[in-house]
Amino acid sequence: MEVVRSREELRRALAALPRPLGLVPTMGWLHAGHRSLIAQAREECAAVAVSIFVNPRQFDDPADLARYPRGEATDLALCAGAGADLVWIPGVDDVYPPGFDTLVTVERLAWPLEGAARPHHFAGVTTVVAVLFGVVRPDRAYFGEKDGQQLRVIDRMVRDLGITEIIRCPTVREPDGLALSSRNVHLSPEDRAAAAILARALFAGRAAHDGGERSADAIRAIVRTVLSTEARADVDYVSLADDATLEELTVVERPALLSLAVRFGTTRLIDNVRLG
Ligand code: AMP
Repeated sequence: MEVVRSREELRRALAALPRPLGLVPTMGWLHAGHRSLIAQAREECAAVAVSIFVNPRQFDDPADLARYPRGEATDLALCAGAGADLVWIPGVDDVYPPGFDTLVTVERLAWPLEGAARPHHFAGVTTVVAVLFGVVRPDRAYFGEKDGQQLRVIDRMVRDLGITEIIRCPTVREPDGLALSSRNVHLSPEDRAAAAILARALFAGRAAHDGGERSADAIRAIVRTVLSTEARADVDYVSLADDATLEELTVVERPALLSLAVRFGTTRLIDNVRLG
């Protein structure tokens, strides 16, 4: 496995790799969720590249950026173990060379949910992903369902621009249901135990839908009722939206995305399940 940093080193390493090339973009502090993306790319592609870059432009809170966990040595061990051929660890100037003046934005899909809660977040995400795709030129890029709106926004971007194919990968969960996330490291032991309520609430909503409930308000209420049993959970939103447009639903008669954001102390967690 080769590790490169500058765009020039990357270009040389890429030239030696066979195609199709799969790219797994990450912000590091890798866990079994990232590993599953790399493993899926390994199965489906002749070569696998991983990028590790904590993208300052997608953080609207400097404190959140400053405390984002980093651990290069363990990240590289996980990449090697999962079968990556190439890891790109650029510095900020490698991704955004001096004079960088481009912003890539997706419109309506990026407005609700995380976009409403974090105004500049998705413009930062789509801009960095566009740079990664432009520099790496992958045939396929692997993203997790865990970040449901991000996946849909990026999928919209690549379809609109005609670049790269997005592969959707299922959410990897802890035994108690908590979706793996680099941010889980910030949870106190009490909050970590309490955070299992996210998956319990989503699964209760999904079970109601599977049982025939079609009122979106009723399903949102079920999710909120489960969340309300956990005093440590400070609910930011509970959404039941059209799976394709992310517009809030009244009646669930098409595939839908049930998603939520919940704070435990200063740590904000997101999760989702698909209905139908
Ligand atoms: P991040 O490093 O948080 O930017 O995540 C990099 C990629 O890994 C994104 O496509 C995420 O959706 C994906 N990912 C993060 N957590 C999980 C998980 N628990 N299961 C599956 N994919 C995940």
